[in-house]
Amino acid sequence: MRIFLYSLATILGVSLHAQEGQSPTNQDSLFLRAIYNEALSEGEAYENLRTLTKDIGHRLSGSNSAAQAMEWGAEVMRGYGADDVRIMPVMVPHWTRGTTAVSEAILSEGIKRPLHITALGGSIGTAGNDPIQARVIAVKHLAELDTMPRELTEGSIVLFNRPMNPVLINTGSAYGGAYDQRGNGASAAAAVGAIGALVRSLTHALDTLPHTGAMKYAESIPRIPAAAISTVDASWLANMIKENPHLEVSLQMDCEAFEDVEQGNVIGEWIGSELPHEIITLGGHLDSWDIGEGAHDDGAGVVHTLEVLRLFKAIGYQPRRTLRFVLFINEENGNRGGITYAEQAALEMENSTIVHLAALESDAGGFVPRGFRIDANDEITKLMRTWTDLFDPYNIHQFRRGGAGVDISPLKNLEPRPTLVGLSPDGQRYFDFHHSAQDIFENVHKRELELGAATFAAAVLLLDQHLPSPKP
Ligand SMILES: [Zn+2]
Repeated sequence: MRIFLYSLATILGVSLHAQEGQSPTNQDSLFLRAIYNEALSEGEAYENLRTLTKDIGHRLSGSNSAAQAMEWGAEVMRGYGADDVRIMPVMVPHWTRGTTAVSEAILSEGIKRPLHITALGGSIGTAGNDPIQARVIAVKHLAELDTMPRELTEGSIVLFNRPMNPVLINTGSAYGGAYDQRGNGASAAAAVGAIGALVRSLTHALDTLPHTGAMKYAESIPRIPAAAISTVDASWLANMIKENPHLEVSLQMDCEAFEDVEQGNVIGEWIGSELPHEIITLGGHLDSWDIGEGAHDDGAGVVHTLEVLRLFKAIGYQPRRTLRFVLFINEENGNRGGITYAEQAALEMENSTIVHLAALESDAGGFVPRGFRIDANDEITKLMRTWTDLFDPYNIHQFRRGGAGVDISPLKNLEPRPTLVGLSPDGQRYFDFHHSAQDIFENVHKRELELGAATFAAAVLLLDQHLPSPKP
């Protein structure tokens, strides 16, 4: 099988004439078949994910395991034959969860019910790491707090309890619609005198898993500790408050922030054969939250990216443009990797003939791929939509406009603006695992992961072949 693919690609390579800005060719469909064959029969994405999640584990920015993952990523890129592998230094936050995150509802005379919580990323601990205890009040929207009497909010612990909207088909939109509670809830609560915040986990699943994630303190508002609470406990607590408006909860956490640490983006480069000054970036983020193993978020995107390099070498595809394989650091709590990458890209474009033509990201899980989220002008969106027949045999049908990915989004500011594309896997189960202790290797399906890698590779190849060069 392999020998056949090599010779097929060699034959194709000889007669290769890219047709920029034009519809797909028969040669494209042969390349796609070769990519999917290789990924599904000889794929290494799944074993790479096992190494990343099981041998290295979770990889929060600033941690030793994140540094270890950087070394591992660089080593795999070298092993797969990248022309150049380097680290782009990035100063990242260093926050640790600590060992204690306890919350209890105080029911009556010494009867307590434990609540499943975990600190939100960036939260301060409780003062002196001692427990705090206060009346708990529940709201669904941040703005409700401003309408409540101050004597109610002062000194309270606020439960933010708005579920993700179940009727939205795109779970990412439902997540985005509930995100303000996690991102800004603590400061909204502190602004009305609250001393702690509990935020309903951002998931459709009804279970006892708390889902962490980044939160941010507003300037000049006192900082109060904030934790994610499981959906089951949030619903239970909200009901209990209706029965007993004086219900109290306790909260104790010893999370802590330290000085920033230097880590970096891992970058592997493969110089293009025809248009080496035109760059196509592809990547995922290497950092993850520190509960679970960062398997779907974003171990999948990391191994997808590495697999594209391996797949192209294996089928004998020689890219026309320079490909940059990037494992970004710090997507989860700052996006400093993505921001630094875009800053460096702007400098490169200022000081050389280099043009950043396109960037692709896989950061939506290792589930069965459905298609792409395209952030591009009309011409290129239309071009990508001519690929529908080409992708039909692989059950890839989505060519939607939308956010392509957090790490690559700062590249939007470049002039000319690069085409941004996100791999779009099925998202219905993503938030069951996202940022929780269940985001582990065992919850990623081998074939689905491999199909994602192949689909990601196919998009890179087609953009390399058909994207028009920028007009001088
Ligand atoms: Zn992610």
